[in-house]
Amino acid sequence: MVSLIFFGGVDSMKKVGIVGAGLGGLVTAALLAKRGNQVVVMERSPILGGRSHVVSKNGFTISYGAHAVLAPKQEPLRSIVRELELPMEYRKASLSKFKLFMEGKVISSPLGFGALTSPAISGFFNHMLCLKQFYKMVKQAPAFPQTMSVGQWIRENVRNPEIAKVLSAYAALSVYDGALDLYSMNRFVELTAREYEKNEPLSYMGYDVLLGELQKAITKNGGGILFGKPVSDLIVEADHVKGVICAGERYEFDEVVLNVPPKELGKLLSYPSLADEFGWYVNQTAHYVFVYDLMLSKRLRGDIGNLLDLDGGFYINDYGLNNPSSVPAGGQLINGLKFLTEQEQLDDSHAKESQTAFETLLHKVYPGWEKYVINKRIINRAMVNGIARRTNAKLLPLQSRAVRGLYLVGDSTEGSGALGMPCYDSAKKVADLLS
Ligand SMILES: Cc1cc2nc3c(=O)[nH]c(=O)nc-3n(C[C@H](O)[C@H](O)[C@H](O)COP(=O)(O)OP(=O)(O)OC[C@H]3O[C@@H](n4cnc5c(N)ncnc54)[C@H](O)[C@@H]3O)c2cc1C
Repeated sequence: MVSLIFFGGVDSMKKVGIVGAGLGGLVTAALLAKRGNQVVVMERSPILGGRSHVVSKNGFTISYGAHAVLAPKQEPLRSIVRELELPMEYRKASLSKFKLFMEGKVISSPLGFGALTSPAISGFFNHMLCLKQFYKMVKQAPAFPQTMSVGQWIRENVRNPEIAKVLSAYAALSVYDGALDLYSMNRFVELTAREYEKNEPLSYMGYDVLLGELQKAITKNGGGILFGKPVSDLIVEADHVKGVICAGERYEFDEVVLNVPPKELGKLLSYPSLADEFGWYVNQTAHYVFVYDLMLSKRLRGDIGNLLDLDGGFYINDYGLNNPSSVPAGGQLINGLKFLTEQEQLDDSHAKESQTAFETLLHKVYPGWEKYVINKRIINRAMVNGIARRTNAKLLPLQSRAVRGLYLVGDSTEGSGALGMPCYDSAKKVADLLS
């Protein structure tokens, strides 16, 4: 039998139900709670964070997905951090530790660490000596056709194949979703006008700390997080959302925010106009990356922070350098990542091959690694929705047109930026819409 749960509050408060405790849901909940609304987050699993959840094992702390909080000093994160008074710890990645792997050799990168984040794309270009000329040209021609992307401009204008190769690799890395094709030349010109110094791109605050802080911000302001509570349906009457069915119970809300991946969203579309509105979005191919984590009892090499294999398409990150609190003294945590091709997205046949190729690279860069392995973790198909941007997949709108009071947040939405950024951006925009 379905019972009825009503979250009462003072009249000015909105009662907001948030489905999913991923980054997008938690940030939305924290902002809305801080602004005086009554929020309840319903999470189907027993843990926080969704694709940013954090696992602790053998004294190591590994984040399933996110390991660097991107562009913490840029909007929208800057104002979110301020509003929630989050104790962020900023750290700059060392440029000298960013390397490239080409033709069997590790070489120093001529590029800046700004390449890691597409919001820092201005820094990316400012730091590239090899592209000084490009930058000059851009400055001289401040208006481009509306449809011309940075990627297209490079393909058509950068004739040196080495530079073009490095650029394309960085574009893929920066980050996972074809950032250069996302940015129009006009937007790029606008971005390059800003000073790089004001745009520190990374903060290595552990995601476990961030998740904990968001949880505190929600509960401190009267909100609640319910764990192990899957939402199985939305209650919609006369095209207005009224609540959700969660773990067999009926919860009433004024507004509902969905922070669920498209596949899950598909299960919540029993109301006909929602099925019409969102059916198209949920049947798209999911996009994955191959992830390989190695926990070593001994540090083998300290001069590499991030390594991009230009020939193999792998990206290696030394967690120990980027996020020292994740590794016990003397140990090393290496995280490897590969962007799967279209075919690899569809099946798992590449798994063995990817692992072998990865280990071959490790032998070259971290000789002796296998003697010190405490634990290996292979996540064959970690989902990164952001890749969808590269494939012109359709991203979810922040607000339903068919049903009033229904909002969407997370990295499958039209929130701007790459990797974790759409989560923050969509959360901020939806919280603003609701306030
Ligand atoms: C390998 C990898 C590396 C990455 N690196 C970075 C990085 O360095 N920096 C960065 O910022 N980002 C990074 N990301 C991206 C980041 O992890 C994701 O963008 C982010 O975690 C997605 O969050 P989300 O808000 O979309 O929600 P999700 O994480 O998808 O969370 C959705 C939540 O909803 C819950 N849920 C689903 N259905 C229901 C239901 N019916 N009822 C109740 N609950 C439900 C799920 O259990 C989950 O907790 C990385 C991702 C990967 C995979």
